[in-house]
Amino acid sequence: MTDSNPQFRIGNGYDIHRLVPKRPLIIGGVLLEHPDGLGLEGHSDADVLVHAVMDALLGALALGDIGKYFPPDDPQWEGSNSMILLERVMSLLYERGWSVSNIDAVVVAERPKLKPHIDLMRKNLAEKIGLDFDSVGVKATTNEGLGPEGSEEGISCQAVVLLKKS
Ligand code: MG
Repeated sequence: MTDSNPQFRIGNGYDIHRLVPKRPLIIGGVLLEHPDGLGLEGHSDADVLVHAVMDALLGALALGDIGKYFPPDDPQWEGSNSMILLERVMSLLYERGWSVSNIDAVVVAERPKLKPHIDLMRKNLAEKIGLDFDSVGVKATTNEGLGPEGSEEGISCQAVVLLKKS
């Protein structure tokens, strides 16, 4: 039997952006420095962590993906701060009576070392999403030199979220 009034919803999100010269490297709202001066290519600021989290939030309510709300061919979103886009996604949740219980994300990047910046990424996300610091998990891993992340063609991120009826 289907529960017509669930109290919880789960969502998952994935994103990848290409590493290119002459672009900023922004992950979780933190401006990082790549040893070869590379950054992430994209229409917005290409914050791969925030994008994966937004897709997880939207996915939990089956609202589609960020491309639906912030189309890459719409000049309005060019160079957007993804944290501002996240605010908009949060209002879609609040309008529907949902809030976030917790988030867990993993960023896959060969370089630079993300560990020293993880807590700031968690703090940035926690503030925007209205969560305690302890309810936002961000992890970083290399891809052991394998695949597009390993060869530093790009950086990817996966995220899961749990929503609760507020
Ligand atoms: Mg993206």
